[in-house]
Amino acid sequence: MDYLSTRDKTLRLSAAEAITMGLSRDGGLFTPVLFPRLSVLELETLCDMSYQRRAAYVMGKFLDGFRPEELGYYALSAYGPDTSAAGFPDAGKFDCPEVAPLHQVDSNTWCLELWHGPTSAFKDMALQMLPLLLSASLKKTGEEKTACILVATSGDTGKAALEGFADVEQTKILVFYPENGVSEIQKLQMVTQEGKNVGVCAVQGNFDDAQNGVKRIFSDAEMREELEKRGYFLSSANSINWGRILPQVVYYISAYCDLVRSGKIKLGQKINYCVPTGNFGNILSCYYARKMGVPVGKLICASNRNDVLTDFIHTGVYDRNRPFHTTMSPSMDILISSNLERLLFDLSEWDDELVREYMTQLNQTGRYEISDMIKERLQMLFYGGFCSEEDTAAAIAAMYKDHGYLIDTHTAVAAKVLSDYRRESGDDTPAIFVSTASPYKFCDSVLTAVGETPAANSLDRIEQLRQVTGVTPPSRLAALKGKEIRFSEVTERTGMESVVRAFLQ
Ligand SMILES: *Cc1c(COP(=O)(O)O)cnc(C)c1O
Repeated sequence: MDYLSTRDKTLRLSAAEAITMGLSRDGGLFTPVLFPRLSVLELETLCDMSYQRRAAYVMGKFLDGFRPEELGYYALSAYGPDTSAAGFPDAGKFDCPEVAPLHQVDSNTWCLELWHGPTSAFKDMALQMLPLLLSASLKKTGEEKTACILVATSGDTGKAALEGFADVEQTKILVFYPENGVSEIQKLQMVTQEGKNVGVCAVQGNFDDAQNGVKRIFSDAEMREELEKRGYFLSSANSINWGRILPQVVYYISAYCDLVRSGKIKLGQKINYCVPTGNFGNILSCYYARKMGVPVGKLICASNRNDVLTDFIHTGVYDRNRPFHTTMSPSMDILISSNLERLLFDLSEWDDELVREYMTQLNQTGRYEISDMIKERLQMLFYGGFCSEEDTAAAIAAMYKDHGYLIDTHTAVAAKVLSDYRRESGDDTPAIFVSTASPYKFCDSVLTAVGETPAANSLDRIEQLRQVTGVTPPSRLAALKGKEIRFSEVTERTGMESVVRAFLQ
């Protein structure tokens, strides 16, 4: 399978090259030239497999040059019981054997829990796999320089990437997070990260500022040359990297198979997915699973108060010129959803010129309007809705009270938008809403939502939430107490280049 760029469809790269580079030199995103369709027979076969085997099978369809045994081994290292594989000492840290279990909420609603990995957010699903794919890709492409992974994070990616890349050979990782844009626990998770090859720095600004800074560094030719002389090249672990998107396609296929296997739906029956969305990587993976033949009806795109995607789906106008809101679901506080570019490329039938034009307009004016043809396709596939802060809290309280089920703030946005969609459309197709973080990652908001006053110290709130609800916290979060703080650097937006230079001395 070859890869092209959303801004240059004549480009052809191997999977290993696309994963190594992360972002195309023309600023575009790598996309496979083909989405293989899973036959009914294949879906049936997948139903009988473990999560790990499903992952190896699905990824194998896209990763020419990777042997099946190799992918099988990576899937076990990333998701399986601890295999203590050499070079990946932290592999296999999921706290349940199903890896991504479904929780039934009512007769036709399920919640897909994607936070059983080491950092308690769904980013682990991809970031436990990406370092293995990248490390292998470096060998396959004969790359001898060290990959420096630059990450801009709205909270969860940073920690998950640090955890995935810590002490992985031939890599270094540097994470930038918005100084006041992440939760206390998210921040603590990052600044206490262990490992010889890791760095963490706060940026004075919001997530978009951090992300723009990283993009700027990537497109800086002079910087690239300078780093090359020192034996480094820059790569990305943000969801613009194909190695992030691909492992996420797996769980949309896997959850469907789980519903079939448990007899809740019949093979071929449609389901809807509702995804709490920020950078559009997660829901894009769902769209790709649908393209591969999973019977998905509506793709429901749930936003918080930063409702740029809701407006976009309704009007066909993407307009980031609006106030930026800091919300209780910070991982979705985003005004530029990078992965939308891949969707536009696909819906426009590979019109790379048009995509380039939209992205130039976005860069220059913060706004673009899609053609009628793309808009029509977009609206046929997607529903967009958003959720206010009050409704997010109310959704947590209602889910806990009515179903005895504790969800985090991001998941609550999805639960609320799914119920809005059902009420508005009358479509009560069986639906899965996606749970992207453990409620223990956002104790403060969750405690308040269930009617408690959060304890003064953010780490005490973990124990408080456990006492109030009886739900067991992830052991890694409980262990944050007493960990040494290793990183305290803060930079201005314009200082990010110097931080990179100093890190790669
Ligand atoms: C990253 C993240 C999201 C948003 O996912 P995208 O792929 O960026 O759309 C939602 N919830 C949580 C908890 C996250 O960490």
